Amino acid sequence: MAFDFLSANIAQQKQRARYRVRQCVAEQNGRYVKIDDKSYLNFSSNDYLGLNHHPEINQALIAGADRFGTCASGSSLITGYSYAHQALENDICDWLNKPNCLIFASGFSANNALMHALGHESCQLYLDKLSHASLIDGALSSHAKVKRFLHNDTAQLQRFLTQSQQAAIKEGNELNKVIVSEGVFSMDGDQADVEQLSKIAQQHQALLYLDDAHSIGVVGNKGEGSSSVADVDVIMATFGKSIATSGAFVACDELLADYLVNFSRHYIYSTAISPALAWATKKSIEIIQREHWRREKITELSQLLASKLSNKVQLIKNASSIHAIVIGDEVATLAVCQKLRDKGIWLSAIRPPTVPNNSSRLRVTVTSKHESKDINYLANCINEVIA
Ligand SMILES: *Cc1c(COP(=O)(O)O)cnc(C)c1O
Repeated sequence: MAFDFLSANIAQQKQRARYRVRQCVAEQNGRYVKIDDKSYLNFSSNDYLGLNHHPEINQALIAGADRFGTCASGSSLITGYSYAHQALENDICDWLNKPNCLIFASGFSANNALMHALGHESCQLYLDKLSHASLIDGALSSHAKVKRFLHNDTAQLQRFLTQSQQAAIKEGNELNKVIVSEGVFSMDGDQADVEQLSKIAQQHQALLYLDDAHSIGVVGNKGEGSSSVADVDVIMATFGKSIATSGAFVACDELLADYLVNFSRHYIYSTAISPALAWATKKSIEIIQREHWRREKITELSQLLASKLSNKVQLIKNASSIHAIVIGDEVATLAVCQKLRDKGIWLSAIRPPTVPNNSSRLRVTVTSKHESKDINYLANCINEVIA
């Protein structure tokens, strides 16, 4: 039969305990999620700073809709680029201390766009093994050569850089090098050594590109992410996580921004994000910079969680909002998730191909909306179910 592969692949997915369905969420914030009329403690939200539903952001959304409309009504190069977008870009430039900034429809699209733009045939892209799917897809479909270094293995990265430079000299080619990593990694919550990456980039005359999806808002005194740690050439971050709206930005120098406006198909052939949402995003970033307590609370609650878990629980320790508990087998991980659900806790099981084989895990996200008693309850339940 035609299109047999559709049902065959779905059947295989089910057989491997990798089958996925969506859950329709009735209500949620950084603390609770309501599904099928039942309320759960929410430990799977990316709303790290608890800004979803913030009254000032909601008001900015309404004011933005009244003033600029709900729709950009065009791509940025036609008539979609409004004062709301420009003002948001300017604020991001000031925040991250970068000369230029462009807004994309999503982080997925921004990463794809940038891997294409920097993936010229004269380039080599060096990606951390745990880079997001949008970076990998973008890099592999670009014209550049792609190398993936072991997760956070800067020694291997340096060897790759030296080897390819030597090969290029032998062949008499010019080689443009781009190092690609994430500030905080999405599945393990661990951090890249941004200072070291920045040094390596300078030594090898490479460009450093960081995906700050999980660092923006959370890392740095004003939540400015990786650029608070070291000099980063290109920074991308989504608005869909701690910033609590939707869309993404790329902050970079004038030349790259100019290049993207002229050549990036993702930028040119896509409608600009809703100007009302851009206006709300601007407000959110203003709150993120001033409300330090949100970051402090994440740190405090994360330390509490680590201290309360039994030492039989395999927690990947780190300084972000994301805490992974590795279980291994897909079936066992799903069973743990279900047991926690029965106790009123919602968190996600992350399975291959999102993570490597036999490293299925629980991904716990702690937000500044949680309270100490929520963390204590979570730790007790996990200890009971796993240990
Ligand atoms: C979520 C995420 C993205 C995609 O951002 P969207 O705006 O959701 O498309 C990109 N990179 C990383 C690391 C992410 O976690």
